[in-house]
Amino acid sequence: MPRALDPATRDALAERIRFYRDLGITDFYRRPVTEVTESAVGAESVAETARALESAGDQEAAQPLRQAEASAPAIQPNFFGEEPAIKTRKGFHAPEIGAEVPVEERAAALQVVREDLGDCTRCALHKGRNTIVFGVGNPAARLMFVGEGPGADEDAQGLPFVGRAGQLLNNMIAAMGLTREECYIANVVKCRPPGNRTPEPEEANTCLPFLFRQIDVVRPQVLVALGATAATYLLGARQPLAGLRGRIHAFRGMSLIVTYHPAFLLRDPRQKKEAWADLQIAMKELGLKATGRG
Ligand code: URA
Repeated sequence: MPRALDPATRDALAERIRFYRDLGITDFYRRPVTEVTESAVGAESVAETARALESAGDQEAAQPLRQAEASAPAIQPNFFGEEPAIKTRKGFHAPEIGAEVPVEERAAALQVVREDLGDCTRCALHKGRNTIVFGVGNPAARLMFVGEGPGADEDAQGLPFVGRAGQLLNNMIAAMGLTREECYIANVVKCRPPGNRTPEPEEANTCLPFLFRQIDVVRPQVLVALGATAATYLLGARQPLAGLRGRIHAFRGMSLIVTYHPAFLLRDPRQKKEAWADLQIAMKELGLKATGRG
């Protein structure tokens, strides 16, 4: 007989699952309850949580976390140095990279993509949305950010990253010495998932062709995947974020950098240092120097 959780426990559990999801851990299973100390629960990363559990003598609880870390498949670059699309993108095959659109035609080309998207009803997400959040910014941006999907504020305003996570993203962009308007910002899915849940593979795969077309039109020098969902669907590889961040991935002729989602950084500000290290890789690629703004 399933046990009803009290609201505080349910919220805490949902928060914890979001935390792991942001780290790229999405498979969970139930096991008999064991004592887990608060210090272990609040640990900084999967590895640290595993270490804390091990030192508390709870090998059984640490094991799935260690497995999640260790079983992350090593991604082998192909002949062109690109990482192959696998598993989670199986419903979507990345199209060949189209011809480069001249800078002065990029705004119009994005408008064509928007018109093709139309008043989209291709997946179930359309039922709960108020507004399609297509993407915003400089059609010839050198730097593009990809998030997961609109939240409540974005759904209300029709613009990506305008809520609390958006404020932090704006600060991150300012710290890089850029303005939001100089960048292009989009999401894996263009309609708000109910309750801000992670998009289902079918929803993400249905929306991806439009995102890939936007990326190909803007053709940024550097693409930043914000969080595990963006990283998963762009690279086609599902593995813990820790294994993807901190380096450059070759992606459709661009440099793709994976970092933490700003919403995750709001929940765990200790990871901001790591995120800044990732952004500095992007800045180096773009020839930017830190301004101290933001
Ligand atoms: N989170 C996202 O992933 N995208 C947004 O646009 C806002 C919050």
